[in-house]
Amino acid sequence: MSIISDTKEIVELIQKVDNADLYRKIIDLQGEIYEMHGANMELKEKVRELEQQLIIVRELDFNEQDGYYYKEGEPVPYCSTCWENDRKAIHLTKVGADYGGGHNCEVCGINQMAARGGN
Ligand SMILES: [Zn+2]
Repeated sequence: MSIISDTKEIVELIQKVDNADLYRKIIDLQGEIYEMHGANMELKEKVRELEQQLIIVRELDFNEQDGYYYKEGEPVPYCSTCWENDRKAIHLTKVGADYGGGHNCEVCGINQMAARGGN
């Protein structure tokens, strides 16, 4: 049984008592319970997101030599701009030498090599 189904059951029982004041009160209470339940779900989702972010914070290391962030064991770097500004771990896409080289970020659109003035 969840708080939502319990509340609905109580509302139905009170409806049978046929007391308008009591019914109005339980309907108000039901609305507040639904609101709190929704807020609780949003908070749980936010905690889940932050936990995921914390895992990534622990896993990403900044490489001073090339200025990229890497996850141990992964050769593909992450966008420094997205990570440092928004804490979004976005893999970069390698750009061929014919197109100027470096790495592009599909989210912020910044070519990482160009942003650092070469290399
Ligand atoms: Zn980016």
